[in-house]
Order: sequence, then C-alpha cells, then structure tokens
Amino acid sequence: MGEKGNSVHKVIIIGSGPAGLTAALYAARSQLKPLVFEGMSPGGQLLTATEVENYPGFPEGIQGPELMESFKKQAERFGAEITAKIVEKVDFLHRPFTVWSNDRQKYQSHAAIIATGSSYKWLGLESEEKLIGHGVSACATCDGFFFRDKEVIVVGGGDSAMEEALFLARLVSKVTIIHRRDQFRASKIMSDRVLQHPKITVTWNSVVEEILGDPDTTGVTGLRIKNVLSGERENISCSGVFIAIGHKPNTSLFEGILDIDKNGYLVTKPGSTHTSVEGIFACGEVQDNTYRQVIVSAGSGSMAAIDAEHWLESCDLC
Ligand code: NAP
Repeated sequence: MGEKGNSVHKVIIIGSGPAGLTAALYAARSQLKPLVFEGMSPGGQLLTATEVENYPGFPEGIQGPELMESFKKQAERFGAEITAKIVEKVDFLHRPFTVWSNDRQKYQSHAAIIATGSSYKWLGLESEEKLIGHGVSACATCDGFFFRDKEVIVVGGGDSAMEEALFLARLVSKVTIIHRRDQFRASKIMSDRVLQHPKITVTWNSVVEEILGDPDTTGVTGLRIKNVLSGERENISCSGVFIAIGHKPNTSLFEGILDIDKNGYLVTKPGSTHTSVEGIFACGEVQDNTYRQVIVSAGSGSMAAIDAEHWLESCDLC
C-alpha cells in the first residue's frame, strides 16, 4: 500500500515463477498476506516452456503455462495479492524495506523474498544483437511458428537447446544444433531424443562467429561458424537462429545492496534462504547455480516463506 494506505506489508515477494508463487502460497497460508510483484515475465520461464515432464504429480506431463496458472490460483486462494507491476528500485538498507514499482508507487514491508529468476544468455555478438527479432530468437515456443518449413539453427548443448530443437523439429524442415564441444551437457533422455530425430543434425566442436543477414531486408540468411579444433570456417544458410546457451540471474536491482557471487547469483546462507541482509530472503534460480529445476525452485520458495515467517516472529521492530 505504501504511499496510498501507509500500511507496512509483512512480506513482499518479487517475482512470480515457481519460486515466487510457492513462497506466496506458503506465506499466505501463514497469514502473512504477501504482496507479489509479477514483474516482467509473469509465471517466469515456464511461460515459454512446452511440456513439463519432470514435475511430480503429472504422470502425463503438463504445459508450462498451465502449471504456472495453477500455482497462481492456489496462492490466491489463500489470500496472496498478486500485482502485475514491475519493481524498479529497492531500499533494503533501511527498515521497513521499500520497493518502488514501475508506476512510481512506493511499497513498504518488514520482510522481502526475492524470486526474480534468471533470463536468457546471449552470445554477445554485434550481429546477434542487430538481428534479434529478425530471425534471431531465444524462444522457440514464441517464435518457432515464423520458420515453418524452413531451416533453422539452435546454438547450445544443454537441456534447453535439446528442448528448443525438439520443439522446432515439429514445425521446420531441418534443425542443425551447433555445439562448442563434442558432447552434450543435456540429460541422456533429451540428448538421445535429439540424436535419434530424423530432422535434427549436430555440428560438434563449433562456435558461431557471426550471424549473417540484414534486419531491414532479408532477416537472417545464415551463420559463419568456426571449428574450434581445426580452425576452419564455414558459412551455413538458415532462416532462423535460436540461442539456447543458458541463463543469467536477474540481480541488477540488488547490486551493491546484497552479496552477489562471481557468477552473478545472490548469495544465501548455507541450508537456508537468508541473504546478506537480515529480513531479505532469496529463492529459485536467482540464487541456484546448480539444480535449476522447477521442483527445486518451488521447494526453495517454500523455504523462503518459512524462513521469513520465523524471522518475522523473532523481529522486535516488525
Ligand atoms: P546449461 O545447462 O547451462 O547449458 C548451456 C549450454 O550452452 C551448454 O551446453 C554450454 O556449453 C553452452 N554454452 C554456454 N555458453 C555458451 C557460449 N557463449 N557459446 C556457445 N555455447 C555456450 O543451460 P540450459 O540448457 O538452459 O539448462 C539450465 C538448467 O535447466 C539445467 O539444469 C537443465 O537441466 C534445466 N533444464 C531442464 C529441462 C528439462 O528437464 N526438460 C529443460 C530446460 C532446462 P558447454 O556444455 O560446453 O558448457
């Protein structure tokens, strides 16, 4: 409520992926009346995921957006307030804590849970930046449709790259995966599906040097790749390039305020969700550089709500 109502929330949750919405469910059930800021991607990364096959309880699998809608409904059922706003600034150094939303409203709380997740990583090439939205994408479920019956490239060797390639193979005429090593990082089940797929081929030991094309006329027309073993360069033609090389944690709001490790992840105390500032908790992929699974994010969301509840109980000023 902040400036409008002057009341101080017990807990504010920033982010609405599996971690944020599970924290909201637990906090709501503990009568903490959490206020959740959905942020730029309501539902988090699962909103662009297709079938989720490894979330327990759904033996036939479930679509990512459907799973997130259920998380949201369940949290709201117990009284979580979920707003579509984006948090643009925080003050976690003074009590009560303050966050400012994109419509210049100010909100205050005694505790805060950060569940801002992570975002797509890009290769960092000038040509990539120029052609994003003109044939370069990081989301097959969002943009795959534009490449129906065309040839596309997927860059990466993890589960995301496998998932993107398998999804695209349903729509396009051919998928080539470019991977910088000679084996995938992805799980065996996903790698095997890719390697056995008749429409997918893999170019190993290769990196992308440049994405070819013109954003104003042709869009993407191909790639220049380099074999890292032989040094040989080759041009490949394609209509689309999907970058699936992992994610980076969304921590820019907290720089200089909370401890962040060398890879950009929020630091939490071992075995807990406590950050370097008392009363601020972090859960999900913004602090998990190891597992990055929906079930783990949801689990850490419940931990953050429990930690916040215990901390509030022992807080004299709250
Ligand atoms: P990831 O596991 O970190 O894999 C990233 C891949 O991109 C790696 O193969 C890496 O190569 C490559 N890469 C990274 N930077 C690169 C660069 N600059 N140039 C070229 N290649 C680069 O990321 P992810 O695939 O997004 O998966 C993240 C987590 O989510 C994982 O734990 C994964 O299991 C999970 N996930 C699970 C599912 C599922 O179960 N259905 C789906 C998606 C993601 P190297 O191998 O050489 O490092």
